[in-house]
Amino acid sequence: MVTATATTEMSRAYQVAASVTDPELPMLTLADLGVLREVTEEDGVVRVTITPTYSGCPAMDTMRDDLVHALREAGYRDVDVRTVLHPAWSSDWITEEGRRKLAEAGIAPPGPAPRRSGPIPLTLTPPSSRVPCPKCGSPDTVETARFSATACKALRRCRSCDEPFEHVKEI
Ligand SMILES: [Zn+2]
Repeated sequence: MVTATATTEMSRAYQVAASVTDPELPMLTLADLGVLREVTEEDGVVRVTITPTYSGCPAMDTMRDDLVHALREAGYRDVDVRTVLHPAWSSDWITEEGRRKLAEAGIAPPGPAPRRSGPIPLTLTPPSSRVPCPKCGSPDTVETARFSATACKALRRCRSCDEPFEHVKEI
């Protein structure tokens, strides 16, 4: 009985945490992004473990506040958010659902992440050569700015339909 209740509560806390959206990509939840690693509850304390998308990402504080706020709203008084940096987040962790939501919002999802050779979490990679246009699907697109409104996205332009669009970079 106790176990069943604990399990139900745990998954409810997980559901609440998983529904919190990313400050920079508000169409994605932290679960879609693969940022949410674990949610546990012990002695009335909910512990949330997250892995930031980029080290030093300014959105992290907002993410943390949003998680605490959402869980408190759901009735969890004691919320502890922990950040785990290893293994480093990779754009490969964005779920299929997340990629679909990005494309629906007109943002090109990341391609396969580059292989990492060392423990450095943020690798500067050359711009992706092939990012299909999320609006018309044409592969004929060009990067116009390495950074858009947020560091995790580059700005591209489609040479077929002439539309500018954002692209979540591969890391
Ligand atoms: Zn296009």
